Amino acid sequence: MYYSEELIEEIRSRNDIVDVVSGYVKLKKKGSTYFGLCPFHNEKSPSFSVNGQRQIFHCFGCGEGGNVYSFLMKYENYTFPEAVRVLAERAGIELPQVQQSAEERQRNSLKADLLEINKEAALYFFHLLKSEKGKQGYDYLRKRGLSDETIVKFGLGYAQNYKDDLYRYLKEKGYRDETLKESGLFTYTERGVFDKFFNRVMFPIMDINNKVIGFGGRVMGEGEPKYLNSPETILFDKSRNLYGMNYAKNSRKGSLLICEGYMDVIALHQAGFSNAVASLGTAFTSRQCLLMKRYTENVYLTYDSDGAGVKAALRAIPMLKEAGLSTK
Ligand code: ZN
Repeated sequence: MYYSEELIEEIRSRNDIVDVVSGYVKLKKKGSTYFGLCPFHNEKSPSFSVNGQRQIFHCFGCGEGGNVYSFLMKYENYTFPEAVRVLAERAGIELPQVQQSAEERQRNSLKADLLEINKEAALYFFHLLKSEKGKQGYDYLRKRGLSDETIVKFGLGYAQNYKDDLYRYLKEKGYRDETLKESGLFTYTERGVFDKFFNRVMFPIMDINNKVIGFGGRVMGEGEPKYLNSPETILFDKSRNLYGMNYAKNSRKGSLLICEGYMDVIALHQAGFSNAVASLGTAFTSRQCLLMKRYTENVYLTYDSDGAGVKAALRAIPMLKEAGLSTK
């Protein structure tokens, strides 16, 4: 997809670099220039400058510099077209659409609807967790040592112990069965429609752009299975995503920690290891290795030293090596 020079320039001019960088770096005004701690190298006193008049940034410490596009590409690891899309959306500028076949159009519109449904579901679960109805789930998470701040950061929630609580909620919001059916959140049977997740603490699974693409749930009490994940949908491809990557990609730690499950990732982030990620209840894939390689070449496996953990590590190591990642 090619965008015209004029369009690229318009998008650039309508995204003030001071505003955009402020979303990532705490800036302080000094004369006509803003200064902050450089996100691209470690430093104690600010040598990273942003000039609003010239719409550029420059670091006197490490020499990084450029415009609003290069900042996002460097910080978020976006490709240029990705940076264009993000900044266009931020400025409310509509990008010219590529010619799509009817089938592609349908698929994209279904994807957009499913993203909306997942977001509604995540908000609903989150709201329940914080209400009287979700007390059991909330107490469980607190007992596991999670702070309120962490619960909010990861958008944790609670699914009630009713067979169709979420289904009725989304139906009332006006979503149609033909769309809900594709969300992976429900089981359609001749006897009716049932929520897949009930009586569980809910973990929204986000892609690297912070969009909810699926859910994991941990049962309260003794039910089976203990952990349940959304099935694959057109949004949720388990082999291409990693839990926690949306935060870990910005951790600037120069490495990633791979752990076994959601709770490990969340507990590590809370303890300051903001580079922890986990695969989504499946064996490691080469696509996940490629995703990690966009951000770092250093990967640490932090699997349990029990039989299952060792087995998983032994399976993962050759794949990580093949992708050119160094493992420890
Ligand atoms: Zn720097």
